[in-house]
Formats: sequence, structure tokens, C-alpha cells
Amino acid sequence: LEIEHIGIAVKSKDKMSDFFENILGIKNPISEDVKEQKVLTKIFDTSKGKLEILESTSKDSPINNFLDKRGNAVHHIALSVENIEEALKELKNKNVQLIDESPRIGAEGIKIAFIHPKATDGILIELCQKP
Ligand code: ZN
Repeated sequence: LEIEHIGIAVKSKDKMSDFFENILGIKNPISEDVKEQKVLTKIFDTSKGKLEILESTSKDSPINNFLDKRGNAVHHIALSVENIEEALKELKNKNVQLIDESPRIGAEGIKIAFIHPKATDGILIELCQKP
């Protein structure tokens, strides 16, 4: 396992984005409109793990519900695995509750799946397959 990225939910990405880019100097972020999840993402690559800013594009986006409850906060931690199907199978065998029983395509076109926060005592964990 490796930490692939940390997802941060914010009401408006401009301030956080300015901080990462101009104060910390993490250049060339990649922006993407992930329509399926109704979020705009902006990914800053430190080369030792990424920081992913998430902004909702719709009232019914899951990010919006999260922001209503917690305000700007770390939303999830993403761990990369060699083979996501195998990892999900292994978790199922251990009776771990999953949001995604099978992988879907997330930002940057990589395979991802979320583990249910009930299984992790409230922390949302995303698995993603190494590209
Ligand atoms: Zn993520």
C-alpha cells in the first residue's frame, strides 16, 4: 500500500488552490470535472503523494452533504494497490463493508473504489489502482 492522495473538500477551491500553488509552490495542477461524482477536482502532485481538492458542482453532490456537516475538511484518504479487483475481493472475504463492490473510473481515468466509513470508524478510504 501507498498513499496515492488525500482528498480535501472545500466550498470554493480558489483559496486552497492558491495556497498549494503559490505559497507551497506545487506547480501545474490538473483540473477535472468528474461528472459522475458531481465534483470538480484539482490535483496537486508533490511527487510523493497528491493533494486533491474537491468542490461540488451540484446541490445533490455527496461532497455538498459532507461540507454541510463538517465544513472544509479532509474528505478521504486514497491508498493505491497493485490490483484493485483482488483488493476488493480480499476485503469482502474479511466482511468489510464497501461502497463500491466493483471498481469505477475516477479522476485521471484510474480505477477506484470506496470502503464504507462504517468499516473504518468514520474515515472514508478510497482504493485506487496504480496506473
Ligand atoms: Zn480521491
